[in-house]
Amino acid sequence: SSRFCEVQQAPPIEVFAVSKAFTDSTHEKKVNLSVGAYRTDEGKPWVLPVVRKVEQELAADNTLNHEYLPILGLEAFSTAAAKMLLGATHPAITGGRVTAVQTLSGTGGLRVAAEFLGRVLKYNTAYHSAPTWGNHNLIFKQAGFTNIAPYRYWDGGKRGLNFDGMIEDLSNAPENSVIILHACAHNPTGVDPTQEQWKKIADVMEKRKLFPLFDSAYQGFASGDLDNDAWAVRYFAERGFEMMGTQSFSKNFGLYNERIGNLMVVVKDTACIVPMKSQLTLLVRGSYSNPPCHGARIVSRVLNDPALFEEWKGCIRTMSGRIIEMRKGLRERLEKLGTPGTWDHITAQIGMFSFTGLTAAQAKHIADKYHIFLLSSGRINMCGITTGNIDHVAEAINDAVC
Ligand code: PLP
Repeated sequence: SSRFCEVQQAPPIEVFAVSKAFTDSTHEKKVNLSVGAYRTDEGKPWVLPVVRKVEQELAADNTLNHEYLPILGLEAFSTAAAKMLLGATHPAITGGRVTAVQTLSGTGGLRVAAEFLGRVLKYNTAYHSAPTWGNHNLIFKQAGFTNIAPYRYWDGGKRGLNFDGMIEDLSNAPENSVIILHACAHNPTGVDPTQEQWKKIADVMEKRKLFPLFDSAYQGFASGDLDNDAWAVRYFAERGFEMMGTQSFSKNFGLYNERIGNLMVVVKDTACIVPMKSQLTLLVRGSYSNPPCHGARIVSRVLNDPALFEEWKGCIRTMSGRIIEMRKGLRERLEKLGTPGTWDHITAQIGMFSFTGLTAAQAKHIADKYHIFLLSSGRINMCGITTGNIDHVAEAINDAVC
Protein backbone atom coordinates (compact mmCIF):
# COMPACT_ATOMS: atom_id res chain seq x y z
CA SER A 1 0.00 0.00 0.00
CA SER A 2 1.02 3.59 -0.46
CA ARG A 3 1.15 6.43 2.07
CA PHE A 4 -0.42 8.52 -0.68
CA CYS A 5 -3.60 6.41 -0.63
CA GLU A 6 -4.48 8.03 2.69
CA VAL A 7 -4.76 11.45 1.06
CA GLN A 8 -8.32 12.75 1.09
CA GLN A 9 -9.83 14.38 -1.98
CA ALA A 10 -9.97 18.15 -1.39
CA PRO A 11 -12.87 20.22 -2.72
CA PRO A 12 -12.27 22.05 -6.02
CA ILE A 13 -11.64 25.80 -6.02
CA GLU A 14 -14.95 26.99 -7.43
CA VAL A 15 -13.75 29.90 -9.52
CA PHE A 16 -11.22 27.75 -11.39
CA ALA A 17 -13.74 24.90 -11.77
CA VAL A 18 -16.35 27.24 -13.27
CA SER A 19 -13.77 28.74 -15.63
CA LYS A 20 -12.84 25.24 -16.78
CA ALA A 21 -16.51 24.46 -17.42
CA PHE A 22 -16.58 27.58 -19.62
CA THR A 23 -13.42 26.53 -21.49
CA ASP A 24 -14.76 23.00 -22.00
CA SER A 25 -18.11 24.24 -23.32
CA THR A 26 -18.35 24.15 -27.10
CA HIS A 27 -21.43 26.36 -27.29
CA GLU A 28 -20.97 29.35 -29.58
CA LYS A 29 -22.80 31.73 -27.22
CA LYS A 30 -20.90 30.70 -24.07
CA VAL A 31 -20.00 33.51 -21.65
CA ASN A 32 -17.58 33.46 -18.72
CA LEU A 33 -18.76 35.65 -15.84
CA SER A 34 -16.73 33.87 -13.19
CA VAL A 35 -13.01 34.62 -13.01
CA GLY A 36 -11.97 38.14 -11.96
CA ALA A 37 -10.08 39.17 -15.06
CA TYR A 38 -10.68 42.11 -17.40
CA ARG A 39 -11.96 41.46 -20.91
CA THR A 40 -12.28 43.85 -23.83
CA ASP A 41 -15.59 44.49 -25.52
CA GLU A 42 -14.56 41.69 -27.89
CA GLY A 43 -14.37 39.37 -24.86
CA LYS A 44 -10.57 39.11 -25.11
CA PRO A 45 -7.84 39.49 -22.45
CA TRP A 46 -6.19 42.91 -22.69
CA VAL A 47 -2.44 43.53 -22.59
CA LEU A 48 -2.37 47.21 -21.63
CA PRO A 49 -0.63 49.17 -24.42
CA VAL A 50 1.65 50.81 -21.85
CA VAL A 51 2.67 47.36 -20.59
CA ARG A 52 3.37 46.15 -24.13
CA LYS A 53 5.50 49.22 -24.77
CA VAL A 54 7.58 48.75 -21.62
CA GLU A 55 7.97 45.03 -22.35
CA GLN A 56 9.36 45.88 -25.77
CA GLU A 57 11.81 48.33 -24.21
CA LEU A 58 12.87 45.70 -21.68
CA ALA A 59 13.36 43.09 -24.40
CA ALA A 60 15.60 45.47 -26.34
CA ASP A 61 17.69 46.46 -23.33
CA ASN A 62 20.89 44.40 -23.47
CA THR A 63 22.04 45.64 -20.08
CA LEU A 64 19.30 43.65 -18.31
CA ASN A 65 19.90 40.11 -17.11
CA HIS A 66 18.21 37.38 -15.11
CA GLU A 67 20.19 37.62 -11.88
CA TYR A 68 18.33 37.09 -8.59
CA LEU A 69 16.47 40.00 -7.11
CA PRO A 70 17.13 40.71 -3.42
CA ILE A 71 14.99 38.62 -1.02
CA LEU A 72 12.57 41.49 -0.48
CA GLY A 73 12.40 42.32 -4.17
CA LEU A 74 12.99 45.36 -6.33
CA GLU A 75 13.13 48.35 -4.03
CA ALA A 76 12.30 50.93 -6.73
CA PHE A 77 9.09 49.01 -7.34
CA SER A 78 8.08 48.59 -3.68
CA THR A 79 8.73 52.20 -2.81
CA ALA A 80 6.73 53.48 -5.79
CA ALA A 81 3.90 51.05 -5.04
CA ALA A 82 3.66 52.22 -1.42
CA LYS A 83 3.52 55.83 -2.65
CA MET A 84 0.76 54.90 -5.05
CA LEU A 85 -1.27 53.46 -2.20
CA LEU A 86 -0.66 56.11 0.45
CA GLY A 87 0.04 59.11 -1.78
CA ALA A 88 3.60 60.43 -2.22
CA THR A 89 3.09 63.30 0.23
CA HIS A 90 1.35 61.29 2.93
CA PRO A 91 2.83 62.11 6.37
CA ALA A 92 3.58 58.44 7.02
CA ILE A 93 5.71 58.38 3.83
CA THR A 94 7.46 61.70 4.39
CA GLY A 95 8.00 60.73 8.04
CA GLY A 96 9.81 57.54 7.00
CA ARG A 97 7.30 55.34 8.83
CA VAL A 98 6.47 53.16 5.84
CA THR A 99 8.28 50.19 4.47
CA ALA A 100 7.33 47.82 1.69
CA VAL A 101 8.42 44.54 0.18
CA GLN A 102 7.68 42.98 -3.19
CA THR A 103 5.47 39.89 -2.94
CA LEU A 104 3.98 37.16 -5.12
CA SER A 105 1.03 39.31 -6.10
CA GLY A 106 -1.80 40.14 -3.69
CA THR A 107 -2.15 36.56 -2.51
CA GLY A 108 1.54 36.28 -1.66
CA GLY A 109 1.41 39.67 0.08
CA LEU A 110 -1.45 38.46 2.25
CA ARG A 111 0.40 35.26 3.06
CA VAL A 112 3.60 37.06 4.09
CA ALA A 113 1.49 39.54 6.09
CA ALA A 114 -0.40 36.73 7.85
CA GLU A 115 2.79 34.85 8.64
CA PHE A 116 4.45 37.96 10.02
CA LEU A 117 1.38 38.88 12.07
CA GLY A 118 1.07 35.33 13.40
CA ARG A 119 4.62 34.14 13.88
CA VAL A 120 6.40 37.38 14.71
CA LEU A 121 3.73 39.61 16.26
CA LYS A 122 1.83 36.66 17.82
CA TYR A 123 -1.63 37.57 16.59
CA ASN A 124 -3.88 34.52 16.28
CA THR A 125 -7.33 35.93 15.53
CA ALA A 126 -8.43 37.35 12.21
CA TYR A 127 -11.77 38.64 10.97
CA HIS A 128 -12.93 38.87 7.38
CA SER A 129 -16.12 40.24 5.89
CA ALA A 130 -19.07 37.92 5.27
CA PRO A 131 -18.83 37.20 2.42
CA THR A 132 -15.27 37.81 1.28
CA TRP A 133 -12.83 36.78 -1.42
CA GLY A 134 -12.65 32.98 -1.19
CA ASN A 135 -8.94 32.89 -0.39
CA HIS A 136 -8.74 35.04 2.77
CA ASN A 137 -9.78 32.24 5.06
CA LEU A 138 -7.43 29.69 3.50
CA ILE A 139 -4.43 32.04 3.57
CA PHE A 140 -4.86 32.86 7.25
CA LYS A 141 -5.54 29.24 8.16
CA GLN A 142 -2.43 28.03 6.37
CA ALA A 143 -0.40 30.79 8.01
CA GLY A 144 -1.35 29.33 11.39
CA PHE A 145 -4.20 31.56 12.59
CA THR A 146 -6.36 29.50 14.94
CA ASN A 147 -9.35 31.85 15.20
CA ILE A 148 -10.76 33.09 11.93
CA ALA A 149 -14.22 34.58 12.07
CA PRO A 150 -16.50 36.62 9.81
CA TYR A 151 -17.87 40.09 10.52
CA ARG A 152 -21.24 40.92 9.02
CA TYR A 153 -20.98 42.90 5.79
CA TRP A 154 -23.63 42.12 3.19
CA ASP A 155 -27.32 42.63 3.77
CA GLY A 156 -29.07 40.38 1.27
CA GLY A 157 -32.44 41.98 1.92
CA LYS A 158 -31.42 45.49 0.98
CA ARG A 159 -28.60 44.37 -1.34
CA GLY A 160 -26.17 46.69 0.38
CA LEU A 161 -23.87 47.07 3.34
CA ASN A 162 -24.97 45.78 6.73
CA PHE A 163 -23.20 48.64 8.45
CA ASP A 164 -24.78 48.20 11.89
CA GLY A 165 -23.97 44.49 11.86
CA MET A 166 -20.39 45.22 10.85
CA ILE A 167 -19.93 47.78 13.63
CA GLU A 168 -21.49 45.48 16.20
CA ASP A 169 -19.25 42.56 15.20
CA LEU A 170 -16.12 44.73 15.24
CA SER A 171 -17.13 46.09 18.65
CA ASN A 172 -17.37 42.54 19.97
CA ALA A 173 -14.11 41.33 18.41
CA PRO A 174 -11.42 40.56 20.99
CA GLU A 175 -8.66 43.14 21.31
CA ASN A 176 -5.67 42.48 19.06
CA SER A 177 -7.65 40.84 16.32
CA VAL A 178 -6.51 41.38 12.76
CA ILE A 179 -9.31 42.85 10.64
CA ILE A 180 -9.06 42.21 6.91
CA LEU A 181 -10.60 45.17 5.07
CA HIS A 182 -11.07 45.53 1.32
CA ALA A 183 -9.49 48.84 0.37
CA CYS A 184 -12.05 49.41 -2.40
CA ALA A 185 -14.29 47.54 -4.83
CA HIS A 186 -15.18 44.84 -2.30
CA ASN A 187 -15.01 41.33 -3.71
CA PRO A 188 -17.56 39.77 -4.15
CA THR A 189 -20.25 42.35 -3.31
CA GLY A 190 -19.04 45.50 -5.09
CA VAL A 191 -20.24 47.46 -2.05
CA ASP A 192 -17.85 49.73 -0.13
CA PRO A 193 -18.48 51.76 3.03
CA THR A 194 -18.93 55.52 2.52
CA GLN A 195 -16.28 57.88 3.87
CA GLU A 196 -18.49 58.62 6.88
CA GLN A 197 -18.86 54.91 7.53
CA TRP A 198 -15.10 54.34 7.22
CA LYS A 199 -14.59 57.00 9.91
CA LYS A 200 -16.89 55.10 12.26
CA ILE A 201 -15.15 51.82 11.44
CA ALA A 202 -11.83 53.48 12.34
CA ASP A 203 -13.32 54.76 15.62
CA VAL A 204 -14.35 51.27 16.67
CA MET A 205 -11.09 49.71 15.58
CA GLU A 206 -9.07 52.29 17.47
CA LYS A 207 -11.15 51.83 20.61
CA ARG A 208 -11.03 48.03 20.41
CA LYS A 209 -7.30 47.92 19.51
CA LEU A 210 -7.93 46.04 16.28
CA PHE A 211 -5.23 45.75 13.64
CA PRO A 212 -6.16 46.87 10.09
CA LEU A 213 -4.94 44.83 7.16
CA PHE A 214 -6.08 46.45 3.93
CA ASP A 215 -6.31 44.21 0.91
CA SER A 216 -5.97 46.48 -2.12
CA ALA A 217 -6.53 44.40 -5.23
CA TYR A 218 -8.48 46.90 -7.32
CA GLN A 219 -6.95 50.35 -6.91
CA GLY A 220 -8.15 52.33 -9.93
CA PHE A 221 -10.85 49.84 -10.84
CA ALA A 222 -13.55 51.15 -8.54
CA SER A 223 -13.76 54.78 -9.59
CA GLY A 224 -11.14 54.97 -12.33
CA ASP A 225 -9.11 57.22 -10.00
CA LEU A 226 -6.16 55.91 -7.97
CA ASP A 227 -6.52 58.50 -5.22
CA ASN A 228 -10.26 58.03 -4.67
CA ASP A 229 -9.83 54.30 -4.45
CA ALA A 230 -7.12 54.62 -1.79
CA TRP A 231 -9.12 56.96 0.41
CA ALA A 232 -9.82 54.51 3.23
CA VAL A 233 -6.21 53.27 3.44
CA ARG A 234 -4.89 56.84 3.55
CA TYR A 235 -7.44 57.85 6.14
CA PHE A 236 -6.51 55.02 8.51
CA ALA A 237 -2.82 55.87 8.13
CA GLU A 238 -3.56 59.55 8.87
CA ARG A 239 -5.43 58.55 12.00
CA GLY A 240 -2.16 57.06 13.26
CA PHE A 241 -2.96 53.35 12.99
CA GLU A 242 -0.12 50.90 12.65
CA MET A 243 -1.28 48.81 9.74
CA MET A 244 -0.50 46.71 6.72
CA GLY A 245 -1.64 47.00 3.14
CA THR A 246 -1.28 44.39 0.43
CA GLN A 247 -1.36 45.42 -3.20
CA SER A 248 -2.09 43.40 -6.28
CA PHE A 249 -1.10 44.57 -9.76
CA SER A 250 -2.93 41.68 -11.40
CA LYS A 251 -6.03 43.65 -12.32
CA ASN A 252 -4.98 47.26 -12.68
CA PHE A 253 -1.93 46.33 -14.81
CA GLY A 254 -3.45 43.18 -16.34
CA LEU A 255 -0.39 41.27 -15.11
CA TYR A 256 -2.29 38.33 -13.66
CA ASN A 257 0.26 35.59 -14.28
CA GLU A 258 3.35 37.65 -13.49
CA ARG A 259 2.47 37.52 -9.77
CA ILE A 260 3.40 41.07 -8.96
CA GLY A 261 2.33 42.54 -5.64
CA ASN A 262 3.50 44.48 -2.63
CA LEU A 263 3.20 44.38 1.14
CA MET A 264 3.28 47.80 2.77
CA VAL A 265 3.67 48.31 6.51
CA VAL A 266 3.02 51.56 8.38
CA VAL A 267 4.57 51.81 11.86
CA LYS A 268 4.63 54.46 14.56
CA ASP A 269 8.33 54.35 15.28
CA THR A 270 10.89 54.37 12.44
CA ALA A 271 13.29 52.37 14.66
CA CYS A 272 11.03 49.29 14.19
CA ILE A 273 11.67 49.10 10.49
CA VAL A 274 15.14 47.52 10.36
CA PRO A 275 14.38 44.58 12.70
CA MET A 276 10.99 44.08 11.06
CA LYS A 277 12.61 43.81 7.64
CA SER A 278 15.09 41.29 8.98
CA GLN A 279 12.20 39.04 10.09
CA LEU A 280 10.37 39.53 6.79
CA THR A 281 13.59 38.50 5.09
CA LEU A 282 13.66 35.20 7.03
CA LEU A 283 10.00 34.50 6.24
CA VAL A 284 10.50 35.04 2.52
CA ARG A 285 13.83 33.23 2.40
CA GLY A 286 12.30 30.12 3.94
CA SER A 287 9.28 30.31 1.68
CA TYR A 288 10.26 31.17 -1.90
CA SER A 289 13.69 32.79 -1.41
CA ASN A 290 13.10 35.80 -3.65
CA PRO A 291 10.44 37.08 -6.06
CA PRO A 292 10.35 37.14 -9.88
CA CYS A 293 11.49 40.24 -11.72
CA HIS A 294 9.53 40.79 -14.94
CA GLY A 295 6.35 42.28 -13.43
CA ALA A 296 8.33 44.34 -10.95
CA ARG A 297 10.37 45.91 -13.74
CA ILE A 298 7.26 46.80 -15.72
CA VAL A 299 5.33 48.30 -12.83
CA SER A 300 8.39 50.09 -11.50
CA ARG A 301 9.09 51.76 -14.85
CA VAL A 302 5.50 52.88 -15.22
CA LEU A 303 5.09 54.20 -11.68
CA ASN A 304 8.45 56.00 -11.75
CA ASP A 305 8.05 57.70 -15.15
CA PRO A 306 5.52 60.57 -15.23
CA ALA A 307 4.61 60.11 -18.93
CA LEU A 308 4.14 56.32 -18.65
CA PHE A 309 2.21 56.85 -15.42
CA GLU A 310 -0.26 59.17 -17.18
CA GLU A 311 -0.61 56.67 -20.00
CA TRP A 312 -1.36 53.90 -17.52
CA LYS A 313 -4.00 56.02 -15.78
CA GLY A 314 -5.69 56.31 -19.16
CA CYS A 315 -5.74 52.49 -19.41
CA ILE A 316 -7.35 52.24 -15.98
CA ARG A 317 -10.03 54.70 -17.05
CA THR A 318 -10.68 52.64 -20.18
CA MET A 319 -11.19 49.51 -18.07
CA SER A 320 -13.30 51.05 -15.32
CA GLY A 321 -15.31 53.04 -17.89
CA ARG A 322 -16.22 49.92 -19.86
CA ILE A 323 -17.35 48.17 -16.68
CA ILE A 324 -19.55 51.12 -15.72
CA GLU A 325 -21.13 51.08 -19.21
CA MET A 326 -21.89 47.38 -18.92
CA ARG A 327 -23.49 47.92 -15.50
CA LYS A 328 -25.78 50.56 -16.96
CA GLY A 329 -26.61 48.39 -19.95
CA LEU A 330 -27.44 45.31 -17.91
CA ARG A 331 -29.64 47.22 -15.48
CA GLU A 332 -31.49 48.96 -18.33
CA ARG A 333 -32.18 45.67 -20.05
CA LEU A 334 -33.42 43.90 -16.92
CA GLU A 335 -35.71 46.82 -16.12
CA LYS A 336 -36.98 46.87 -19.69
CA LEU A 337 -37.68 43.15 -19.58
CA GLY A 338 -39.60 43.73 -16.35
CA THR A 339 -37.46 41.16 -14.54
CA PRO A 340 -38.95 40.75 -11.04
CA GLY A 341 -37.03 42.53 -8.27
CA THR A 342 -35.01 45.73 -8.26
CA TRP A 343 -31.82 46.09 -10.28
CA ASP A 344 -30.43 49.43 -9.16
CA HIS A 345 -27.78 47.60 -7.11
CA ILE A 346 -26.06 46.68 -10.38
CA THR A 347 -25.17 50.31 -11.04
CA ALA A 348 -24.69 51.19 -7.36
CA GLN A 349 -22.04 48.51 -6.91
CA ILE A 350 -18.51 49.29 -8.05
CA GLY A 351 -15.42 47.53 -9.31
CA MET A 352 -15.20 44.38 -11.30
CA PHE A 353 -17.98 42.41 -9.64
CA SER A 354 -21.67 42.57 -9.13
CA PHE A 355 -23.38 40.55 -6.44
CA THR A 356 -26.55 40.01 -8.41
CA GLY A 357 -28.69 38.36 -5.76
CA LEU A 358 -29.11 35.31 -8.02
CA THR A 359 -29.29 32.05 -6.08
CA ALA A 360 -27.14 28.95 -6.63
CA ALA A 361 -30.10 27.25 -8.36
CA GLN A 362 -30.57 30.24 -10.67
CA ALA A 363 -26.83 30.30 -11.45
CA LYS A 364 -27.01 26.62 -12.37
CA HIS A 365 -30.06 27.19 -14.57
CA ILE A 366 -28.20 29.98 -16.40
CA ALA A 367 -25.17 27.75 -16.94
CA ASP A 368 -27.17 24.70 -18.06
CA LYS A 369 -29.57 26.47 -20.39
CA TYR A 370 -27.63 29.53 -21.58
CA HIS A 371 -23.99 28.43 -21.25
CA ILE A 372 -23.28 31.50 -19.13
CA PHE A 373 -20.96 30.59 -16.27
CA LEU A 374 -21.05 32.40 -12.92
CA LEU A 375 -20.33 31.56 -9.29
CA SER A 376 -23.00 29.89 -7.16
CA SER A 377 -22.99 32.96 -4.88
CA GLY A 378 -24.51 34.96 -7.75
CA ARG A 379 -21.34 37.02 -8.22
CA ILE A 380 -20.71 38.02 -11.79
CA ASN A 381 -17.62 39.54 -13.33
CA MET A 382 -18.98 42.57 -15.19
CA CYS A 383 -16.02 42.42 -17.61
CA GLY A 384 -17.35 39.17 -19.05
CA ILE A 385 -20.26 41.18 -20.43
CA THR A 386 -19.81 42.80 -23.84
CA THR A 387 -22.03 44.71 -26.24
CA GLY A 388 -22.19 41.45 -28.19
CA ASN A 389 -23.54 39.26 -25.37
CA ILE A 390 -25.35 41.69 -23.05
CA ASP A 391 -28.82 40.91 -24.45
CA HIS A 392 -28.19 37.18 -24.10
CA VAL A 393 -27.02 37.66 -20.49
CA ALA A 394 -30.02 39.85 -19.59
CA GLU A 395 -32.45 37.35 -21.12
CA ALA A 396 -30.82 34.50 -19.21
CA ILE A 397 -31.06 36.36 -15.90
CA ASN A 398 -34.66 37.30 -16.67
CA ASP A 399 -35.55 33.70 -17.45
CA ALA A 400 -33.84 32.43 -14.28
CA VAL A 401 -35.65 34.92 -12.05
CA CYS A 402 -39.10 34.63 -13.66
N1 PLP B 1 -7.67 40.18 -2.81
C1 PLP B 1 -8.83 40.21 -3.43
C2 PLP B 1 -10.01 40.81 -2.74
C3 PLP B 1 -8.96 39.68 -4.72
O1 PLP B 1 -10.13 39.73 -5.33
C4 PLP B 1 -7.82 39.13 -5.36
C5 PLP B 1 -7.94 38.52 -6.67
O2 PLP B 1 -8.95 38.13 -7.16
C6 PLP B 1 -6.61 39.16 -4.64
C7 PLP B 1 -6.56 39.69 -3.38
C8 PLP B 1 -5.30 38.65 -5.13
O3 PLP B 1 -5.09 38.43 -6.43
P1 PLP B 1 -3.60 38.19 -6.96
O4 PLP B 1 -2.96 37.19 -6.07
O5 PLP B 1 -3.78 37.73 -8.35
O6 PLP B 1 -2.92 39.50 -6.89
